[in-house]
Amino acid sequence: STATASSVPAALQSFLSQPKQLLIGGKWVNSASGKHFDVFDPATDQVIAQAAEGDAADVDRAVKAARAAFDGGPWSKMTASNRGRLIWRVGELIEEHADELAQLETLDNGKPLGVARAADVALAADMFRYMAGWATKIEGNTIPLNVPYAPGGEFHAFTLKEPIGVVGQIIPWNFPLLMAAWKLGPALATGCTIVLKPAEQTPLSAIRLGELIQEAGIPDGVVNIITGFGETAGAAIASHEQIDKVAFTGSTEVGKLIIGAAAGNLKKVTLELGGKSPNVVYDDADLDMAIAGAADAIFFNQGQVCSAGSRLFVQKGIYDDVVAGVSEIAKNLKVGSGFDASTQMGPLVSREQHDRVTRFLKAGADQGAEAVAGGSAIDGPGYFVQPTVLKHATEEMSVVREEIFGPVVAAMPFENDGDLIAQANNSAYGLASGIWTRDISKAHRFAKAVKAGTVWINCYSIFDAALPFGGYKQSGWGREMGHAALENYLQTKSVCISL
Ligand code: ADP
Repeated sequence: STATASSVPAALQSFLSQPKQLLIGGKWVNSASGKHFDVFDPATDQVIAQAAEGDAADVDRAVKAARAAFDGGPWSKMTASNRGRLIWRVGELIEEHADELAQLETLDNGKPLGVARAADVALAADMFRYMAGWATKIEGNTIPLNVPYAPGGEFHAFTLKEPIGVVGQIIPWNFPLLMAAWKLGPALATGCTIVLKPAEQTPLSAIRLGELIQEAGIPDGVVNIITGFGETAGAAIASHEQIDKVAFTGSTEVGKLIIGAAAGNLKKVTLELGGKSPNVVYDDADLDMAIAGAADAIFFNQGQVCSAGSRLFVQKGIYDDVVAGVSEIAKNLKVGSGFDASTQMGPLVSREQHDRVTRFLKAGADQGAEAVAGGSAIDGPGYFVQPTVLKHATEEMSVVREEIFGPVVAAMPFENDGDLIAQANNSAYGLASGIWTRDISKAHRFAKAVKAGTVWINCYSIFDAALPFGGYKQSGWGREMGHAALENYLQTKSVCISL
């Protein structure tokens, strides 16, 4: 049964009290098994809703609906211009319901309400508007030919860009609505149809988004939403023979499973995976700005950001000052419910994540890292941990090598450019990076040498629908956002005519 947590805003009560179903072929339906799972408020550890537990049978129904919508439904016949209008409308509806969506996100994920409103919801709306514009701008090329074995032959050759087909999209819990937008935006712009699986920890905003997508007039079967667990619903998407492409955001470990599962029908795969991003402070930086930036790079969203600046490299002469500065900020961060206006850091998303981060903190201490700020969990009922700054961190420690996905930064000193680049690139990951310096050449040298998909110079965590995002090395395959994201959802067909 559903106990209503005290923190639930009145405006959400009616939405939460209705049964949370699956969206298949334009209808909200129960799972074939009839099963549900509990959804928790991470600030109170109370059950706030129950969501339908979809599994392989439901994924199969959703794929059939998506297939029918792709192979001949109104979506497949719609002009690109009209497709763009509907996608734009989704963006508008998100804005119109911004406060409600932000509340839902704070309730389900724990993040501060102001962050949910200004970042998650605003970026999600913007993503749909940005991608709406691309719908009418997907073009092939004309290509001059010079066929060696057909001398004098005259040809007219061109490429067609076609939607890849039915796509499966599996998303995480750290930015539930925004990750849905990153995935759905380009898939809709290119004319694909979709089976989306939100994370089991945070299914609520995707369900509400599904309602808004219907309200916008996106035809039935174009967007299907299956809530459920990774090992069942997620795995069924990754392995389904009738899905042409799978896009996944989550852990590197699960990303590798996706590749294996996708091999059956060789569906195309894009992956946005973990990170252990280096954030570098040189002694010629504006130190106040760099210290505030380094704190924000790790504590934003409770550190549950794949591109978080979790390895902080500080030039030797200023190491103690910068560590002290970031620690001072950490100690003063107000940790609490995301609905409290003074809260700067909310709870972690789940009990499991809370326990995982706590295990890393213990491992760091056991291995000799010193917590200058924080270092432990905060007593419940919610899933809170202290913002933590570790010094005396070394490259062999698990807190430096592995993705913690929590508010824990490991600070390490460096001497000069040469050893910095070696240290920064000494990671299995390569998602993002940051550098703080007033020296433009140093910044550019770093930008060229670092093996990471994003480089932030004198800033961190700047995201824009137009700016591609994705990983080197084990941080992933392909890019999201920007026009680069469209390629993930398009096939190129070459057409050659003899004149
Ligand atoms: P985390 O460990 O931080 O929860 P995951 O990578 O496990 O991150 O989860 C990201 C998404 O992948 C979620 O939607 C989850 O349900 C899904 N998932 C987890 N395991 C699998 C799997 N074996 N196959 C497909 N999807 C999965």
